[in-house]
Amino acid sequence: MYVTPASGSELAYPAGVVSNADLAEAFFVLAESHPPGELRLALLRAAYAVFDHPRELDGARRLPETIPLEVLPTVAMLRGCRSRDAVTAAAHRLAGPHRPRGSPTREGFLSAAEASRVVADSGALDPRQLRGAAHWHTRASDGAATLDAMARTCLRRGATWAVVTDHTRGLACVNGLDAEGIELQRRAVASWNRRRGEELWLVQGLEVEILEDGRLDVPRTAREGVLLVAAVHTGLAERRDQTKRLLRALQEPGVWALAHPRGRLFARRAGIRANWEVVFAEAAAGGVLLEVNGFPRRQDLDPTLLALAREAGCRFLLASDAHHPRHLAFDATAVALCAQAGISREAIVNFGPLDHLAGDRPDLAVP
Ligand SMILES: [Zn+2]
Ligand SMILES: [Zn+2]
Repeated sequence: MYVTPASGSELAYPAGVVSNADLAEAFFVLAESHPPGELRLALLRAAYAVFDHPRELDGARRLPETIPLEVLPTVAMLRGCRSRDAVTAAAHRLAGPHRPRGSPTREGFLSAAEASRVVADSGALDPRQLRGAAHWHTRASDGAATLDAMARTCLRRGATWAVVTDHTRGLACVNGLDAEGIELQRRAVASWNRRRGEELWLVQGLEVEILEDGRLDVPRTAREGVLLVAAVHTGLAERRDQTKRLLRALQEPGVWALAHPRGRLFARRAGIRANWEVVFAEAAAGGVLLEVNGFPRRQDLDPTLLALAREAGCRFLLASDAHHPRHLAFDATAVALCAQAGISREAIVNFGPLDHLAGDRPDLAVP
């Protein structure tokens, strides 16, 4: 039906098919050409409803229930388009004298329907065979559910191990864990493992902040027995090169994975700049995992950079970045990104058992 390029995330559809991604882009372009107001908001809502719809809508011949009524006249005008070029031309015509620019911050993302199709065709990378659910949040920081509720959902989804990674206090924008919070969670994790560890073994992790100079926001004493996923959450819009910051973070003791390395966000920001070849070489040499964040608005790393990391010999951690039990399914999007980058099952720790978590890192003690 379609071919997957060796790298890059754009899927080729046969002529005569308008994908959800094409249709959503038309709505985004139209929203950009409208002044702020009801119609602009409705167009944006329509764009997201189409982009997030799990099945292809056949060029708007079917519509998601969540599509706002105000955009139905626009839908009627786009419905006759039989190719991406036609739908793009129609959107530009409807945009009138405002020349829409399009946004590079939307390029290289899979729509939900594309992600499901890649996964359906991904052969050896089957999300149903994932054993580990990593990088998710609970009420202890900015998540919506308790540790037990999240763990029960991981278990129902087939995981045999899971790593909870709430934020730490150093991150000003969220309600992160301080030393006391980390200790309380340590006990909650131990309590789960006493009760249900045979079914699902929980490991405590932390999503720690990479500071401006590349150090982490937690003292070394708080890192013992905890798997750290280190992430950049500040300075994301800056255009300077941040290679040094990432390299320093990769060398910090206890760093298990580099989380959402680019920090890009769909339709919002492109993420940081770095010499990724150098960063990936350092991660591979130090045995630090590279995260493939499947949260649909992140998709970070993207397939092009993932292919580069694969060539550098990196190993990968799939992450849902779930803030709600429902979000735990987002690790399937990470599987889609890996499939597009040609990453093998063996290079992904989530397909392996618990005792593979630390790889050959003697400094990472997995309890
Ligand atoms: Zn984060
Ligand atoms: Zn997170």
